[in-house]
Amino acid sequence: MTDSTDNKIALVTGAGRGIGKAIAELLAAKGNHVICLSRSESSCGAVADGIKANGGSAESIALDVADKAAVKAACEQLLEKHGNIDILVNNAGITRDGLLFRMSDDDWDDVITTNLSSCFAFVKHLARPMTRKRYGRIINMASVIGLTGNAGQANYAAAKAGMIGLTKSLAKEFAARNVTVNAIAPGFIATDMTAELNEKQQEAIVGIIPMKRMGTAADIAHTTAFLASDEAGYITGQVFTVDGGMVM
Ligand code: NAP
Repeated sequence: MTDSTDNKIALVTGAGRGIGKAIAELLAAKGNHVICLSRSESSCGAVADGIKANGGSAESIALDVADKAAVKAACEQLLEKHGNIDILVNNAGITRDGLLFRMSDDDWDDVITTNLSSCFAFVKHLARPMTRKRYGRIINMASVIGLTGNAGQANYAAAKAGMIGLTKSLAKEFAARNVTVNAIAPGFIATDMTAELNEKQQEAIVGIIPMKRMGTAADIAHTTAFLASDEAGYITGQVFTVDGGMVM
């Protein structure tokens, strides 16, 4: 079944696993051509192959989103091939947790570069054709941690709060061109990222979630697909918290 998001070209970063994989699969199921991007070809290639095996349209690109030159070259190739990217989902992200006095410069730089600077780079290269076409949907995967902060995650919280500021600024810059820019702030979602937490930490987290469960990647994919749709065309500069009621 297709709806009004169909026949668009979508680029999803971090599409090899977890939230990004669910987003790529849902956007493809809605009839979009999905470019699945992740660090390793084994993950994004498998997701693209799975989409194609289910009758969808997809391709894969393996690169490190922190590598500015690689991002620029890939965006140029994509624009050459497709003319325009309609939907950009900046989802790739990492954690390098630690209390401030133990956080190395590399832990700080890696998280800021991978999570925040990469969004700037993709938008910089892909937004101009969107503004010319007077159509675009940019969705940045932030986090509730960017809203609340978290001990041991100064780098991650700063990057995610930065993504929210970037989202709101770009929404204002692009609104008159019919390009919307929104952020999603997931709470705790069951993926490889949260599987790194031990059982005690996971129990403590579920204890503070009013819905008493972690979210699923599908919960975030459905919010993303809505923001990517034509129906969401009058929504821009917003942050959608999807967290089972944790942050109100
Ligand atoms: P995940 O399961 O760890 O998957 C991360 C994906 O991002 C993988 O496909 C990985 O590529 C890709 N990636 C990581 N670093 C990359 C890089 N430098 N270049 C290219 N690709 C890179 O993460 P997730 O839980 O799905 O999280 C997705 C996003 O949601 C992140 O931005 C995260 O901060 C955010 N988020 C997650 C949660 C949560 O509870 N899970 C909560 C709030 C926000 P490979 O597959 O090749 O390794």
